[in-house]
Amino acid sequence: MKLKVIQSDITTIQVDAIVNAANTSLLGGGGVDGAIHRKGGAEILEACRKIRATQGNCKVGEAVITTAGKLPAIYVIHTVGPVWNKGGKEKESLLKKCYINSLKLAIENNIKTIAFPNISTGIYKFPKELAAKIAIETVRNFEEPSQIDEVTFVCFDEENFELYKKIVEK
Ligand code: ADP
Repeated sequence: MKLKVIQSDITTIQVDAIVNAANTSLLGGGGVDGAIHRKGGAEILEACRKIRATQGNCKVGEAVITTAGKLPAIYVIHTVGPVWNKGGKEKESLLKKCYINSLKLAIENNIKTIAFPNISTGIYKFPKELAAKIAIETVRNFEEPSQIDEVTFVCFDEENFELYKKIVEK
C-alpha cells in the first residue's frame, strides 16, 4: 500500500473513494462536508437521506458509503470525527475508529484508492499534530493493507501539509 501526502481540495481528487468529515446527521455542514455536498450535487444528499431513513444518525467513529455524484471520485465514504472539546484518550480512539471503519468499508466495496481529509482538525478542533499522528499510524498499521493500493492524505491548509510530510517521512 502506497501512502501519499498532498495539499489540495479533496473534491478535485480522482480516486475510487474520497472520505468526508461528516457530522452525525449526515445532512451536510461546513468545511469539507459543505464542499463535497456543494460540488457533488443533490445525489449525495439523497443517498445520505436514504441511509438515515434506515439506520438513523451516523455515530461518531462510524462510516457509511454513498455515490460521489458529480465529483471525479466514484464513492464518498462519510465518517463522523469526534469533537475535541476537552480531549482525552476516548477522543483519540474515536478518531482512530474513523480511519479503520473507512478502510474496512473501502475493502468491502472493492475500493483500491482512497483519499482522506484531516478529519476533526477544522470545526471539531482536534489538535492537528496529534490528529496527523493518529491518522498516519492507524493507516500504516491497518491489518489488511494489501487490499488497498493507495491512500492519499489530502491536506487543505499549509500547517497540516507540513505536519503530515514530517510525520510520514519519519
Ligand atoms: P471537522 O468538523 O471534522 O473538523 P472540517 O471540515 O471543519 O471538519 O475540517 C476538517 C479538515 O478538512 C480541516 O483540516 C480543513 O482544513 C479541511 N478542509 C476543509 N475544506 C476542505 C476541502 N475542500 N478539501 C480538503 N480538506 C478540506
